[in-house]
Amino acid sequence: MPVYRAPVQDSLFLLNDVLAVERYANLPGFANASPDMIEAVLTEAGKFCEEVLFPINQSGDLEGCTRHDDGSVTTPKGFKEAYKAYCDAGWTLLTQPEEFGGQALPHVVGFPVEEYRMAANQAFAMYPGLTQAAVAAILVKGSDEQKATYCPKMISGEWGGTMNLTEPHCGTDLGLIRTRAVPNGDGSYAITGTKIFISSGEHDLTENIVHLVLAKTPDAPDSVKGISLFIVPKFLVNDDGSLGDRNALQCGSIEHKMGIHANSTCVMNYDGAKGWMVGEENKGLAAMFVMMNAARLGVGIQGLGQADIAFQNAVAYAQDRRQGRALTGPQDPQEKADPLFVHPDVRRMLMDAKATVEGLRALCLWGALQVDLAHVAETEEERQRADDLVSLLTPVIKGYGTDKGYDVATNAQQVFGGHGYIEEWGMSQYVRDARITMIYEGANGVQAMDLVGRKLAQNGGRAIQAFFAVIDGECARAKDNEALADFAGRLEKANGELKAATMWFMQNGMANPNNIGAGAHHYMHIMGIVALGSMWLMMAEAAGKALAEGRGNKAFLEAKLVTARHFAERFLPDAGSLRRKIEAGSEAMMALTPEQFYAA
Ligand SMILES: Cc1cc2nc3c(=O)[nH]c(=O)nc-3n(C[C@H](O)[C@H](O)[C@H](O)COP(=O)(O)OP(=O)(O)OC[C@H]3O[C@@H](n4cnc5c(N)ncnc54)[C@H](O)[C@@H]3O)c2cc1C
Repeated sequence: MPVYRAPVQDSLFLLNDVLAVERYANLPGFANASPDMIEAVLTEAGKFCEEVLFPINQSGDLEGCTRHDDGSVTTPKGFKEAYKAYCDAGWTLLTQPEEFGGQALPHVVGFPVEEYRMAANQAFAMYPGLTQAAVAAILVKGSDEQKATYCPKMISGEWGGTMNLTEPHCGTDLGLIRTRAVPNGDGSYAITGTKIFISSGEHDLTENIVHLVLAKTPDAPDSVKGISLFIVPKFLVNDDGSLGDRNALQCGSIEHKMGIHANSTCVMNYDGAKGWMVGEENKGLAAMFVMMNAARLGVGIQGLGQADIAFQNAVAYAQDRRQGRALTGPQDPQEKADPLFVHPDVRRMLMDAKATVEGLRALCLWGALQVDLAHVAETEEERQRADDLVSLLTPVIKGYGTDKGYDVATNAQQVFGGHGYIEEWGMSQYVRDARITMIYEGANGVQAMDLVGRKLAQNGGRAIQAFFAVIDGECARAKDNEALADFAGRLEKANGELKAATMWFMQNGMANPNNIGAGAHHYMHIMGIVALGSMWLMMAEAAGKALAEGRGNKAFLEAKLVTARHFAERFLPDAGSLRRKIEAGSEAMMALTPEQFYAA
């Protein structure tokens, strides 16, 4: 049977020793986040995820959601009770503003909690996760009345939230949206159209569901410039805040899909449903992007969560299962075979997993800190720098993070041999659940294009220059430390490959834009490697310092140093080969006709 242990020790190491969040105690929100408080929150969250969410992960996968003839949807056994316990314990409130009932803790404290719940039960975690993203959009773009009407109940978890972009003919290319919004003359709109693949579109966990829907008004340009965003609640809300009539929308069906079975993926039919515009007309995409940016970081955390739970179980299995003998001679001569753990190839998979999971965890928390600093840092310059960095790294956290999260999950499954393919062990579910993270919230190819096609050039390349400066600064500082000098030299080299790839795009992208598209995925991966490299450098420095001062768990800290070395030896060199792929350009990639691709 699979197990889950929340990685509280690692989260605390990152928050206290690596990111040293205590130094921001003067900033709004951070004052509430003392080390003791953080430890208490993460310990309780870990316990909740281990004891309440994880036990219904496998059963939820087996049972899935059920749609009834009246369009209602029932979540698997135990989900309703777990959701109530989740809300009662206040887990929906952590990072939300105090004026709407939240606890206003920094995101850097909320992210580990999100990771634990994603790892313990991704399908469950998506229900409150989407609500959180919808709240983010209403808080930034909604009117005061909309905030007052919807945010308190969504933040408390009494009402859910969804995001409705996709239509049957329209996925990545949102300019193709056909859903219509016709003014009713009273400030509301009649929304008509069909949305597909809507996560948490209908379920039995909350008394109301607030759908955020992209649609076009009658005279809007028929392109991305003509999209507006609307709040379309399942039940209309009376002036006194109570629930009124049922709105004209329904779940037409739910999808039978590869993973996340316990999260309802719905076809949503809007038949003149009443909706209210959020923000300005034709500026809906910008409003939805507030939600999508929050959700993209959230999906990066899903990739991390699935990688972590798969990795944990693979480590346990490799110690238990006995096959063959160590290449260097029997390790347990009294037994007929040694544990899988002795085989270097099994170690390769486990060490790669450890280096990736712990590196991604650091990057996600570093990203969360930038989200906080972008809002509350003392100076405009600091806020802008943090905003530049997190917006540059968001496609990397989502795209690279979920590509690698899936790799880790399949490698962890590989450690189980044939047993990994059998549902009972749980590994198959982690692989299936991880797979969607590479597809939704903008498929990873689109994340790579967002990075290379949009983010690199924004504001004259200000963000990428800031990123290079961060890495260069860290390497220069670390080179003075004998224990870190080798790592710093290798990271500097990988950063040099990233700089060269950036320059190659500048020189070869204008003449042939396909050169950008052909190298975008590789570029996103080089940046992921460099970003994780910088995290490992910071972790090695913090671990070395704690060891020298005789603080902390010695075995845990020593493992950090060894894993940093593994990352330097086995991950950083890939930056060079990825750069060479980029420099090969697009000629061969784009040369064949469709007929030449497959000749039977
Ligand atoms: C389980 C599940 C849950 C979902 N939840 C939601 C939800 O809650 N709300 C919602 O609105 N949607 C949701 N989606 C939809 C999801 O976001 C889309 O499937 C995704 O955005 C891709 O769109 P598509 O499937 O139409 O693929 P397409 O857009 O047809 O893309 C197909 C492939 O082509 C590539 N591609 C397309 N255009 C480009 C381009 N310009 N440059 C480079 N590559 C390109 C893509 O990367 C992809 O690999 C969900 C989907 C699933 C399966």
